[in-house]
Amino acid sequence: MANRKRVLITGAAGFLGSHLCDRFIKEDFHVIGMDNLITGDLRNIEHLFKLDNFEFYHHDVSTFVFVPGELDYILHFASPASPIDYLKIPIQTLKVGSLGTHNLLGLARVKKARMLIASTSEVYGDPTVNPQPEEYWGNVNPIGPRGVYDEAKRFQEAITMAYHTFHGLETRIVRIFNTYGPRMRLNDGRVLPAFIGQALRGEPLTVFGDGSQTRSFCYVDDLVEGIYRLLFSDYAMPVNIGNPDEITIREFGEEIIKLTGTDQQLISLPLPTDDPKQRRPDITKARELLGWEPKVARAEGLKITYNYFKSLPEKDIQHKSFTNYNK
Ligand code: UDP
Repeated sequence: MANRKRVLITGAAGFLGSHLCDRFIKEDFHVIGMDNLITGDLRNIEHLFKLDNFEFYHHDVSTFVFVPGELDYILHFASPASPIDYLKIPIQTLKVGSLGTHNLLGLARVKKARMLIASTSEVYGDPTVNPQPEEYWGNVNPIGPRGVYDEAKRFQEAITMAYHTFHGLETRIVRIFNTYGPRMRLNDGRVLPAFIGQALRGEPLTVFGDGSQTRSFCYVDDLVEGIYRLLFSDYAMPVNIGNPDEITIREFGEEIIKLTGTDQQLISLPLPTDDPKQRRPDITKARELLGWEPKVARAEGLKITYNYFKSLPEKDIQHKSFTNYNK
């Protein structure tokens, strides 16, 4: 069909990018996926390759981006998103958020496309207010291990707003809080896949620090719905999307032990540098502007995610290396 709207999704083979591809395909868009496959995995989108309204470019958006034909929307979701990845590939993390965003903003201008960027609760750093509203400016260490991600994302917001105000580009900024679901990398080092992977391998669950730090976990379908609504709203300022149901990491570990039926215990490891002590989204804006709020309770989302991880080939469950950039 020639009159399908065309959307470019970067990070298409990643966790969030692949779910967004599915959603836009379902809404009958022509979807152009792009990924350099450093942390992404083609298995997440292989079911789309047979469709005539899906294309894939193996490309690193930190270098000049060319896409033939028209584009109506660009969703920039390419980036490592786990603290372990930032440590292993800090320069790429900085480049995809800064140079990559600049390239895509340029592309959006040429194509007269609306651009949505994936920002993050990490722009709030180790927050001194809880929950975090969009007006909070954050508490970020620019030169700490998380600085490469946090500052790239803060720059990304700044340059996106500059293109909006100076060039009149239509832009949207979503600040994504901890999200989970099928297609997360079991070995990406983040707490949920780490705990479930450990339970499946019969290893103790590694709690960093005393486990009193909090996070608030959003199921991926809820997040995708929020992003979809934000894209088609007329609101250019940042919007938090996440689930405000806050839990300590220790309690979360106990939930995973119950869910997986493992007889493993929690063990303590040192708390990583600059690990935020609390995180919970204030979603008043999303509620009021988008009529959005999360629908999937943690117990339900965790069950689906656990079943997904359990169904992976045994070699993936046993594979503990955090990243696949040496493959
Ligand atoms: N964490 C943990 N054990 C692990 C991995 C992570 O206790 O094996 C903790 C981590 O220190 C942090 C929280 O879980 O306080 C969430 O970490 P994650 O890497 O998932 O994402 P973050 O929200 O810190 O970006």
